[in-house]
Amino acid sequence: MSDATSSKFRNCYQQARQCVTSNQSIRQLLNVLSIYGCPFDFDRHLTCETTDRNLRGGFHQSLCQIVLYPENIQSTGELCTIFEHELIHALDYCRAKIDFANPYHLACTEIRAASLTDQCSLLQHLSTSSRPFIIKNQHESCVKNRAQQSMELCTDLPRKQVDQIINDVFLRCYNDTEPFDRIRRRQ
Ligand SMILES: [Zn+2]
Repeated sequence: MSDATSSKFRNCYQQARQCVTSNQSIRQLLNVLSIYGCPFDFDRHLTCETTDRNLRGGFHQSLCQIVLYPENIQSTGELCTIFEHELIHALDYCRAKIDFANPYHLACTEIRAASLTDQCSLLQHLSTSSRPFIIKNQHESCVKNRAQQSMELCTDLPRKQVDQIINDVFLRCYNDTEPFDRIRRRQ
């Protein structure tokens, strides 16, 4: 392990804790997890690991654990976004007992995780008040692309079937913004 990689490891846990201070959405997610009876314990429910694959994070259903892969994460801001993404999976598992082996459940939680984090919000920079409808469509297609990429990483389903499943559940899951009042792009 190179020096840079080992320091990323040491910092990973600390950075994740810092996200709680810097990121209001993460505080809200942790709060709602507690309300649902799944309080998040950093020592028990977070691990930082190495990977041979191009992964930045994951949620381990049977261990109830969020995994971060710091070697593939470039900044604290990016780490907070990935942490938040995985917390949305943790919340969906806690509140709805979703089954990550069920591709419809997986598609739904990936849509929510992409849409409710700022993963698609760079498009905000392109936003002008005269073009809200175009931006809305761009946000939706960004969310679909992200969900598709995530599903291709964790299933063996053919692309066409992944697209079909995402389209089948998209509206219902995209409009389910719990625990937030709305999607961040509209804030
Ligand atoms: Zn995901």
